[in-house]
Order: sequence, then structure tokens, then C-alpha cells
Amino acid sequence: MNDVALQKKGGAEARVAATPETVAGYVKDGHVVTVAKGAGARADYSDDLYKAAGAKIATTNLTAVKDADLVLSVNGGTEKLLASLKSGAGITGVLSPTDNPKYAAACAKAGVTAYALDYIPRISRAQAMDVLSSQSNLSGYRSVVEAGGIYGRAFPMMMTAAGTIAPAKVFIMGVGVAGLQAIATARRLGAVTTATDVRPATKEQVASLGAKFIAVENEEFKAAETAGGYAKQMSAEYQALQAELTAKHIAKQDIVITTALIPGRAAPVLVTKAMLGNMRPGSVLIDLAVERGGNVEGAKPGEIVTTDNGVHIVGHLNWPSRMAADASNMFARNIKNFLPLVTAEDGAYAPDWDDEIIKGCALTKDGEVVHERLTS
Ligand code: NAD
Repeated sequence: MNDVALQKKGGAEARVAATPETVAGYVKDGHVVTVAKGAGARADYSDDLYKAAGAKIATTNLTAVKDADLVLSVNGGTEKLLASLKSGAGITGVLSPTDNPKYAAACAKAGVTAYALDYIPRISRAQAMDVLSSQSNLSGYRSVVEAGGIYGRAFPMMMTAAGTIAPAKVFIMGVGVAGLQAIATARRLGAVTTATDVRPATKEQVASLGAKFIAVENEEFKAAETAGGYAKQMSAEYQALQAELTAKHIAKQDIVITTALIPGRAAPVLVTKAMLGNMRPGSVLIDLAVERGGNVEGAKPGEIVTTDNGVHIVGHLNWPSRMAADASNMFARNIKNFLPLVTAEDGAYAPDWDDEIIKGCALTKDGEVVHERLTS
């Protein structure tokens, strides 16, 4: 099979969908791999490393994909790129199908099978293919490190001849994959760490990382997790109680990392302007949910906003791309683990349409949009 590793040219994306390590594995398995020139440069993987791993280097994305049976990408290619693919070829990527249904339609039009890695069902067998987890984990880590860079004080307590520095107080809101790694990172750096979530299962996870759990633990909280393990939209009454608790707690915090998301909805607003007004100057808020509307009032996608009272609200986008080498490494391994589902024993491109993972993530087949979340 001809595989291709490519990434979007320009823009904010620095990750790449295959690393020299995964390419070497594909070549060993008998695949022909073509990598677009410079595809890994911003993730510290040079063309020479890909060549040494056995890849061919193509001058552009468009020439790279011409003969491919399967295109490995981070975010899917442009419509122009889809039109350059062979009919019947496949493309993988984080395709955000719910937000961007037009992309699936474009893939169908081009006769390309689109595999949305973000739709891979979160079942145990698919854990090693879960790009959402691998990338969120790094986002959680990076958010704390980045906050440390902006914060004008230290994280750990320091007792020095010149006096004692108090430890930073870090509050993590939303304890999914990113939140858990943010807690672990803040703890490692020596911060006094607290965390909140609406799912009761997170209480024990927070405690196991040595942080303190803070939440409105009423009857609604006890039933706030869906069968799929996600948060429910909370009632207006719960939100009011949560806001009251948050307002008191946040006034004493130095760094707040928000990660709260509800599938299929806008992110809940958890930190209001009034709460920000009670924080001390120099405090830092990192809103990891900014791409879905944001958890912090006043957060701006792609910007750092400083309030009148000197509080910094960080709205960076695409956090995994800020650590492109590791993020690509994890992403590429996720794809490598996915590959057997679209490959026959002889190595030919042959998606297994009976597999629930393929059914869960394939958006198109034979020129039609087939995914039930897009057709119903
Ligand atoms: P997510 O990105 O959807 O949301 C982040 C967190 O925000 C969640 O913990 C959610 O409960 C929380 N949240 C939502 N509304 C909130 C509010 N109003 N206040 C406070 N917190 C709020 O979460 P995720 O990282 O994708 O994880 C979701 C679930 O999926 C978790 O149960 C996780 O363990 C599970 N998961 C399973 C697998 C698997 O392979 N089985 C892999 C990864 C994650």
C-alpha cells in the first residue's frame, strides 16, 4: 500500500501524522511511504530522517498524495488535495465532523473514504488509537508549563536566605484527560492544587493525584455522568451553586486551568468577569475550552487578554501543536495502531467494514456520506 504522511502547509499546525519511527515500521511491513517535503520540519523531524526510515520525499502535498491508497494527515487536507486523490483512497485525520460536515461532503464528492480519528469509539480496544486522549494529555501538561511562564512568581514553596516564597495555588476546572495531566503537572511543580468537576468519578482521581477536590456534591452531581462517561449539561440551579462556590475559591487562586466540555454543546461558562475582578494582579487563567466557546468570560481565541485588574486570560489555540515533536510522536503511534483495521494481511488497503471502530469513524464510503451522526 502507498501511505503518505503530510500536514497542512502553513497555518498554526506544526504536527505531522507520521514520524520516522512509524514510517520505518510501515516500510518494514512492505508499504511504500511518501512524505511531503518539510512535513515534519516544525516537529523536529527532518526530511533526511524520513529518507533514512525508507520514505520517498515528494515536493508538495498534492504530488505526495497522487498515488496514495491512504493519506495520513493531522487535520485532513484541503478540498484541492482531496480532488488530487485516487477515487477509493482513504484519508485519516482529526476532521471535526460535527463542526464541519461540509468536509465529509467534500470527501464523498471526491470518492474518498474519510476516517475521522476524533470519532473513534472510546472502547478499550481503541485506547491505543485515541488521538483525543493522547493530544489532550499533552495539552494539560503544556497549559501548566505555559502558565508558569506567564506567572510572575514561583510554583513551589522556597525557603531561602532572602525569605520564604509561598507556593502557587492552582485550580483545575474540568478533570477529563487534560485536567488530570494538568493536576499531575501542577503537583510535580510544587503548587497547592485543587480541582473540580461535575462527574463524581473524578473525586477519587483528583485525590489519587494528591490534589483537593472541590465541588457542589448534591443529588444532581451524583447523576451528572452519562453512560458514555461524559458530563451532562447541568441545571440552572446547579450552575448557580457552582458559581457561588467557584467565586469564593477562585478569589484565592493564582493560576486557573479550565478544560470543561460537554459533548455536542458550547463549553459551560465557569468563570465570570465578576470572579476575575476578585483575583489578584498577575493571576493567570488558561482556557483550554476556548475553541468551543470558552469557560472563562472574556477569553479570546488565539490571544492573551489582560484585564483591568492585571489578570491574564490565555486563549491559545491548538495546544498539542505547541509541543509538536511529542504530540506528533503520540499521534503517529495512534495512527499506526489504527492501520491494521484498514489493511489486509498482504498489506493491501482494505478497510474492515464489519469492525465497529471503522463503522464508528468512517464518514464516507463509495461517494456517499454514510456516518449515522451525519446522515440522521
Ligand atoms: P471532555 O474533554 O469532554 O471534558 C473535560 C471535563 O470537563 C470532563 O471531565 C467533564 O466532566 C468536565 N465538565 C463538563 N462540564 C463541567 C462543568 N460544568 N463543571 C466542571 N467540569 C465540567 O473530557 P475527556 O477528557 O474527553 O474525558 C471524558 C470521559 O471520557 C472521561 O470519563 C474519561 O475518563 C473518558 N475517557 C475514556 C477513554 C477510553 O478509552 N475508554 C479515553 C479517554 C477518556
